[in-house]
Amino acid sequence: THPALTEPAPVIRAPRGPQKTAKGWVQEAAKRMLMNNLDPDVAEHPDTLVVYGGRGKAARTWDAFHKIVETLDRLGDDETLLIQSGKPVAVLRTHEWAPRVLLANSNLVPHWANWETFDKLDQAGLMMYGQMTAGSWIYIGTQGILQGTYETFAGAARKHFGGSLKGTITVTAGLGGMGGAQPLAVKLAGGVSINIEIDPTRIQKRLDTRYLDEVATSLEDAIARAEGYRAEGVARSIGVQGNAADLVPQLVEMNWTPDLITDQTSAHDPMWGYLPPVSADEDASRLRADHPDEYKRRAYDAMAAHVRAILELQKRGAVAFDYGNNLRHRAQEAGVENAFDYPGFVPAFIRDSFCEGRGPFRWVALSGDPEDIRATDRALLDLFPHDERLQSWLRYAADQIAFQGLPARICWLGYRERDQAARLFNEMVADGRLKAPIVIGRDHLDAGSVASPYRETEAMLDGSDAVSDWPLLNFGVGIASGASWMSFHHGGGVGLGFSQHSGLVIVADGTEQAAQKLSRALTNDPGMGVIRHADAGYDHALNVARERGLDLPSLGI
Ligand code: NAD
Repeated sequence: THPALTEPAPVIRAPRGPQKTAKGWVQEAAKRMLMNNLDPDVAEHPDTLVVYGGRGKAARTWDAFHKIVETLDRLGDDETLLIQSGKPVAVLRTHEWAPRVLLANSNLVPHWANWETFDKLDQAGLMMYGQMTAGSWIYIGTQGILQGTYETFAGAARKHFGGSLKGTITVTAGLGGMGGAQPLAVKLAGGVSINIEIDPTRIQKRLDTRYLDEVATSLEDAIARAEGYRAEGVARSIGVQGNAADLVPQLVEMNWTPDLITDQTSAHDPMWGYLPPVSADEDASRLRADHPDEYKRRAYDAMAAHVRAILELQKRGAVAFDYGNNLRHRAQEAGVENAFDYPGFVPAFIRDSFCEGRGPFRWVALSGDPEDIRATDRALLDLFPHDERLQSWLRYAADQIAFQGLPARICWLGYRERDQAARLFNEMVADGRLKAPIVIGRDHLDAGSVASPYRETEAMLDGSDAVSDWPLLNFGVGIASGASWMSFHHGGGVGLGFSQHSGLVIVADGTEQAAQKLSRALTNDPGMGVIRHADAGYDHALNVARERGLDLPSLGI
């Protein structure tokens, strides 16, 4: 159980269709997206307002949720609602080009930026952990991370296995909101995976939504099945229930080495995310409540054992990479000095994309009609006929992916691509090809929106990993360029003290004003990715900046 929430939890589903109750479509979109984040088909634990990523929440309390909804319904087109860690604190008179909502979640002055301070404030009802897209109302279920996860495994395939994961076995852990994308992403990249998860309800959820193919009865059984599929050259995903801190070291003892090893348990949050092994007669929740220090020590010891095993498997030939949950740092704190001997996934496989401003572009059909997403899929296939990665992804997604909540789609697009796609969607709303407006947004995990030295900005060429001027500039640029709502968060992905990041959402409602806002916001936002990487000295980003016409005075471009 998460920190107590007193009111009974309602079941939330966003309204659908072309009728709105708010004064403008942006306000209506913000309301529907907040509600969609808490839809039981979308959120991991909607009763406690937890959307995904450990305890990433959409609103601070149910009372705050209801007040936000009421306020959005009365908010004018020249007003802006302020959200402070999930609580609506003020409505201000602004102007039509200003965002309708500004959100700041989980931010603490750097000296106090740690879980201990946050937990005290959280328990006192003064803060909320927003993760990335939970607190900025643009989570779309596990699909949201699927393509990024696919990009990562496809990147690993290109770098280490000749372009495909066919004939390889990946071992990972964590089948939560984000981690649940791993089995399908590995399968899409052609490989077999064994997915360790402690909570049987999470395994069942991934089976129900077709992200996971089957469940083994034990680790031995999982390995036997995986070896069988590998021999047949079949891509398949296998779940196994257990604690990663037990099962990964068991692989070492069994002298069995996978081809790839990673992890996506919620290690960013040692108190509420990563579960230490407990004996059959122990109750983990009670241990956490009654003996928090003891609980935390055991979580840290478990993460140390987990990472030692990953390092040993790496020594024996597995390709090991960290999947953005800060597991290496936790293990290092618990005494594993060489925890960082394996790289993070961004420097290993993703940075080239970031140099092009290429990152996650997601959109949601406010009509609620899956046909609207199908129409946008077809439109993008026509708009970018030569992008093979995009073509194969969109065809696969259209055919295979089950929607959660409002129908939505994601794909990775770069600088001077996102604005084109957005303007096209806006035209389709205007001329009736789509039945209602489209919401466009992105993860905070993107090319130019985050400072996170153990993840997105790990091992930057110029050593500027921890400089968080960049996400602050990104937040400002979105506000200055016509975004519908902008957010600035702390601690997403890797936990408090380790990251600062900004989120952008914008609505295509078919108006001329929306077209202008979409053009500026979705040019400048991915542009920040190119700018940030050009400034750090990456040749690829410098070339993109020159070729695509950015104006960078300090670089003579
Ligand atoms: P989540 O909390 O929804 O899921 C975590 C899962 O791990 C849960 O199902 C939990 O039961 C399981 N788990 C916890 N401890 C375990 C253990 N010791 N052994 C086995 N299973 C265990 O979180 P999520 O949204 O899936 O995110 C997972 C992690 O990945 C977070 O740290 C998040 O910040 C990070 N993340 C990474 C990316 C990325 O692209 N790399 C993106 C988002 C989140």
